[in-house]
Amino acid sequence: MRVLEERIREEGLILSETVLKVDSFLNHQVDTELALQIGQEFKTVFGHLPVTKILTVEASGIQFAMAAGIALGVPFIYAKKKKAVTLSEGVYSAPVHSFTRQEDYVISISQKYLGPEDKVLIVDDFLATGAALVGLADIVEESGAQLLGVGCVIEKSFQEGRSLLEKRGIPVHALARISSMAPGEVHFIANEEQIKESAGC
Ligand code: 5GP
Repeated sequence: MRVLEERIREEGLILSETVLKVDSFLNHQVDTELALQIGQEFKTVFGHLPVTKILTVEASGIQFAMAAGIALGVPFIYAKKKKAVTLSEGVYSAPVHSFTRQEDYVISISQKYLGPEDKVLIVDDFLATGAALVGLADIVEESGAQLLGVGCVIEKSFQEGRSLLEKRGIPVHALARISSMAPGEVHFIANEEQIKESAGC
């Protein structure tokens, strides 16, 4: 998604070879117009599938799951990271190791909102080590629902997330795929549409 790549180039802060900060437009202050465009892009990619629910993890996946939910006309569920008293029984849970915070936590969702009748699209802001999304995929499996695919806004392709998911047979689509980065420079893997565009197709 070209507009997204441009914003990453212009505003992204590369804190190290593995951490990209996009707090000015994606995951602290949110450019709502861009978030809605991201939702539309997920519709373009996944709209032909019979998705009934979108699943994400709080907090930074929520705005994109909501935008995708609006575009696809389905509800979204966000997994909670802290065990709330209101979520005391009947939950699906999975352990996750956080790449950015270097800590372990458990994600949970209520069994009331996901079941064998559901067809799920997982949406998140970043695909890095894949730990968060593998945790969500485990929850979908436990619920008996069918996982149709994973859409993420930014993929750091040099980390192992995509291969972990693809090994499980889960289709993955990322709107911006970073092949490498270093302070002051970021390189993207062109997606199929961009390759066709530059070939004049
Ligand atoms: P993963 O489980 O794939 O390693 O990443 C889990 C979460 O960590 C992502 O959903 C995202 O919120 C956060 N994350 C991973 N890498 C980055 C990064 O480079 N920058 C930011 N801002 N968040 C990241």
